[in-house]
Amino acid sequence: MVTLRLLLGDQLTHTISSLQDIDIDKDVILMCEVVEEASYVKHHQKKIAFLFSAMRHFAQELRDKGYNMAYVKLDDKKNTQSFGSEVQRAIAEYQATKVVVTFPGEYRVLQEMKEWQKRYSTPVEIREDDRFLASPQEFADWAKGRKQLRMEYFYREMRKKYSILMDRDKPLGSKWNYDAENRKPPKSGLHVPQPYRVKCDKITQEVFKLVEKKFSHHFGDLKPFHYAVTREQALGALEHFIEERLVLFGDYQDAMIEGEPWMYHSHIGLYLNCGLLTPLECVKRVEEVYHQKNLPLNAVEGFIRQIIGWREYIRGIYWLKMPEYKQQNFLDAQRKLPSFFWDADTDMNCLKQCVSETKENAYAHHIQRLMVLGNFALVAGIHPDEVNEWYLIVYADAYEWVELPNVSGMILFADGGYLASKPYAASGAYINKMSNYCKNCRFKVSKKNGEDACPFNYLYWDFLMRNQDKLQKNHRVAVMYRTLARMKPERLEEITTDAQRFLDSLS
Ligand SMILES: Cc1cc2nc3c(=O)[nH]c(=O)nc-3n(C[C@H](O)[C@H](O)[C@H](O)COP(=O)(O)OP(=O)(O)OC[C@H]3O[C@@H](n4cnc5c(N)ncnc54)[C@H](O)[C@@H]3O)c2cc1C
Ligand code: SF4
Repeated sequence: MVTLRLLLGDQLTHTISSLQDIDIDKDVILMCEVVEEASYVKHHQKKIAFLFSAMRHFAQELRDKGYNMAYVKLDDKKNTQSFGSEVQRAIAEYQATKVVVTFPGEYRVLQEMKEWQKRYSTPVEIREDDRFLASPQEFADWAKGRKQLRMEYFYREMRKKYSILMDRDKPLGSKWNYDAENRKPPKSGLHVPQPYRVKCDKITQEVFKLVEKKFSHHFGDLKPFHYAVTREQALGALEHFIEERLVLFGDYQDAMIEGEPWMYHSHIGLYLNCGLLTPLECVKRVEEVYHQKNLPLNAVEGFIRQIIGWREYIRGIYWLKMPEYKQQNFLDAQRKLPSFFWDADTDMNCLKQCVSETKENAYAHHIQRLMVLGNFALVAGIHPDEVNEWYLIVYADAYEWVELPNVSGMILFADGGYLASKPYAASGAYINKMSNYCKNCRFKVSKKNGEDACPFNYLYWDFLMRNQDKLQKNHRVAVMYRTLARMKPERLEEITTDAQRFLDSLS
């Protein structure tokens, strides 16, 4: 009796639940590259190359361990190009009597999997994804009865549950959160280390040819390519971060410098999300080094909070609120995504830099995603569907479970404040404080109105005016409405006129 063990592209973990209890002599592991997944949105070329190469390397490691592998390449003649039909084909070919798979990262895929048992007359077991620190049920239990969720309280539960940075039942250093010490602006002369780079081997070169042939019309630069594609290399990337960047991660977490896309971030999101690294091992390793080397607590706590706090919280909300979450548009934003999100052809230097770097690297760090690109999408009133699609396409770490709550909840306030306590809208002053982008911009960040004023300056107030009925009751933005109330009618008119002129120019 053969059990078919299906591994998806974001399940590249040797200890994954679907492989536990595998019968090495009989069972077959199925992995497939399918057009349906590679192009249901037109993913960045680098993202496709990264995932296919990582999948092929992972399959080779399993083969080397002696497992029976059924690996379907994208251009295999018999490939039917969808998960469902490939599972059906494999059931027939290997006479499988059961299918085992780990809980997927996307609601759409889960719904499909739930159909397979009936459709293919074969039992299908969907196992929990125990790589995460909290199961969807555990998160739902925590969220039950709370009107508004806050990451901070969930994060504390995770710290206690896994005994991370704890001194018995108290947080190490007596504070749970060092966020206030994670906001230094960049200073001149800062040395930013080079990112971890891996040489491309034969497998990756072969994938390049495939991507060039099939996906060259997709957004983004395929080369240069230096991402890790094996677990060993991904562990190297983690160590490189700990060695070279972690010490300043805390201080400069929110800082942006022109021409420095990598800053002091870890660049491990893409490895965590496809399974080459697991969250708990990264966090434990960082905690270990903290004790060995006496690293700054603001850096270590800041990093750990992102992984066991934000990452888990975001996933919890996704599974708690799908499928309705995808339809939310609390602010009724209707604008189309401007074309400069694809070609970086804009005079707004901050946006130009962030889009160009995204195109080159399939990466932008958190503050670029949140306070430049996201801030613009929010204040310009771009429709959540358009923004979600863009973010899902362009980042190598983007999967719907993590992308959607970050976009609809964190940047667009489309859920009405369920995930975030206030909209992350800001004027040009914030970007000017946290970056050096404004120095090379044709717009003047110090100017509030007129053709050469920074567009964020009037779009910010226009956004508050447009959404006054929905936002003024939010106590975290109440102070801004009080400022707005004190503005003279002529000033308000200037804001509206400038915003209208600018927004009209986008279409
Ligand atoms: C609009 C928007 C869209 C985003 N889309 C994605 C996405 O598709 N995939 C994704 O993994 N992250 C997403 N993020 C979160 C975050 O920006 C990225 O995880 C991070 O930039 C990845 O780079 P890094 O590995 O260098 O992260 P670091 O800054 O070094 O942080 C370490 C790790 O913490 C985790 N993390 C930090 N913040 C978040 C967060 N808000 N949500 C989930 N995990 C977090 C990630 O796993 C990250 O690798 C998004 C954020 C915003 C504001
Ligand atoms: S002036 Fe405004 S548009 Fe230009 S870089 Fe600064 S914040 Fe961005």
